[in-house]
Amino acid sequence: MTPPNPLRQLPSVDELLLTLKDQLAAFPRRLVVEECRATLAEARQRLKAGQTLPQELSRTVRERLLRLSHPPLLHVINATGVILHTNLGRAPLPAFPVPSAYTNLEYDLPSGKRGKRDAHTAALLERLLGRPAIAVNNGAAAVWLVLHELAAGGEVLISRGEMIEIGDGFRIPEIMERSGARLVEVGTTNKTRVDDYARACTPNTRLILRVHPSNFRMEGFTGRPSLSELAALAKDKGIPLYEDLGSGCLWEHPVAGIQEPSTTQSFEAGVDLISFSGDKLLGGPQAGIIAGREDLVQRVRRNPMFRAFRMDKLGVACLSETLRLLVLERWDQIPAWRMLRMTLEEVRVRAEGLLERLGRSDVMLMPGESLIGGGSTPQQSLPTWLLAVSGDAVAIERQLRLGEPPVLGRIEGDRLLLDLRTVLPEEEADLLRALRRL
Ligand SMILES: *Cc1c(COP(=O)(O)O)cnc(C)c1O
Repeated sequence: MTPPNPLRQLPSVDELLLTLKDQLAAFPRRLVVEECRATLAEARQRLKAGQTLPQELSRTVRERLLRLSHPPLLHVINATGVILHTNLGRAPLPAFPVPSAYTNLEYDLPSGKRGKRDAHTAALLERLLGRPAIAVNNGAAAVWLVLHELAAGGEVLISRGEMIEIGDGFRIPEIMERSGARLVEVGTTNKTRVDDYARACTPNTRLILRVHPSNFRMEGFTGRPSLSELAALAKDKGIPLYEDLGSGCLWEHPVAGIQEPSTTQSFEAGVDLISFSGDKLLGGPQAGIIAGREDLVQRVRRNPMFRAFRMDKLGVACLSETLRLLVLERWDQIPAWRMLRMTLEEVRVRAEGLLERLGRSDVMLMPGESLIGGGSTPQQSLPTWLLAVSGDAVAIERQLRLGEPPVLGRIEGDRLLLDLRTVLPEEEADLLRALRRL
């Protein structure tokens, strides 16, 4: 006798639909049928492979439908201590008026005429940076636009030590190639001198590019010319000097311990044009800022591809609000700045308060480090106090991550650590509930 074929036990789509009658009121019939089909196809695959079915088919269909009832982008509590966490959307956004209704995005109210969407950010950027500036979709778009406008068909000098990959496959040499500029590498991987740049200059050189090595650090026998040396050379040769700063530190950052090259330093050293991201140290939404010499900024602004890389109205609303808060020096209304500026004492008081309310002996306070992250110089950290949860760190991490809302911590050694520096004050109640459920 042959064993019964398990595939025969699978219901038909219609039979499965009958068990899901209650779902048909909440979901379109076409969608429920599709989910039944997909679930049955999966079940068939499993059975053919000799596996068993994990649960009743109707339950699987219900779960698939339920997932569609929630927006896919979930609010997560970031207790990792990484302030600009790339996987969690970099900077948490300040409160801003969401332009869901009509707005004056491209309309000049005083004159009643067509306006420009960059007007909202340009004036604020110029106040902050002291130079004309425009905003585009992101940092990568800014780099591409500058190279395309100022160097396509010509040569760009770049140090071998700066031919870097920023992350997720964004490589400086590749973006240069796509911009139509020819890359000329100068110096060596660890050492580049200003003479190397000087020797590489030809009548075809259009730009000297300097890139902030955001996500790595070279140590030992290394060196590159100072910005002022490069600026002097650029001036002598009549070629603009452009710096991709990446993280966009506006001033010598008013937070002790952050050592990032700042926009002010670049301009003071004589850099002609800079670009940086809006969602790194600036603390705003995804954006790319291009600032510097008026004639160069205006050329980039007039590049036909500017439109393809322009910001959308959500971004304009959020970036202009972030910039307004910075101009008014309301640092603490920008969440990333609030986290950067939070003192060790403030973190300790919050952590102790939470621990007291929690009242569990398996959670302890210990000193540690928060990371700035997000393309700032790697390993830059701020001292902090951590909640250390004892027990099976892997299991606890999983339970917190799969909770509602998800809470993300970090495992170090065999302990799960939670850093309140990156937890917004209004998230503390949810964090407390999540810890009580453990
Ligand atoms: C982050 C970064 C970029 C890319 O900016 P996005 O806003 O992520 O597109 C480019 N250059 C440097 C040096 C960076 O750090």
